[in-house]
Amino acid sequence: MSEVRFWETKTLAQMNAQEWESLCDGCGKCCLSKLIDEDTDELYYTNIACVLLNSKSCRCSDYENRFAKVPDCVKISLDDIDAFHWLPPSCAYKRLIEGKPLPQWHPLLNKGKASEMHKRGASVRGKIVCETQLTGPSQDYIVRWPLDECE
Ligand code: SF4
Ligand code: SF4
Repeated sequence: MSEVRFWETKTLAQMNAQEWESLCDGCGKCCLSKLIDEDTDELYYTNIACVLLNSKSCRCSDYENRFAKVPDCVKISLDDIDAFHWLPPSCAYKRLIEGKPLPQWHPLLNKGKASEMHKRGASVRGKIVCETQLTGPSQDYIVRWPLDECE
C-alpha cells in the first residue's frame, strides 16, 4: 500500500491538528533569538536559545505550558501569516506555503525519526547557547546557519 503524503494533497488550511503538528520537524531554529536591523529591516538569527529549549532533543521542554512560561513564544499559525517571514528556509510550514517540498531529511520522510535531520546538521543540536548563559551582547551571537538553504 502506498504511503499517504497528506502534505502533498492538502493545503495547510485543510490539515487537521495532528497533521499540522507532525509537520514540525523539531529543528528548534524558531526557538532562537532573532535580531532586526532597524535601518534595513534585515533579519539576523543568533544561536541564543530560549530557556525552555532542550539542547539535545531540540524540542520545547514544556510545550503544553510554553505560552505561560515564555510570553513572547510565538504560535505558528495561519492566523498569523506575517510571522512566517522569520521562520528558517528549512521550516516545513514556510516551505509548503512557498510551494516547496519537504527536505529529504524531514521526519515525515524518515519513518517519523529526527535522526537524519540531526545527522545532516539541520537542527540546532550542538550549536546553541542558553539565553541564561550569555557572556556578551546578543550581537556577538549572530550566526548564518539557521538561514542556510536546505535540500
Ligand atoms: S522552524 Fe519550523 S519546523 Fe523547525 S521547529 Fe520551528 S516550527 Fe518546527
Ligand atoms: S517556549 Fe518552547 S516553543 Fe516557545 S520559544 Fe521557548 S522553547 Fe521554543
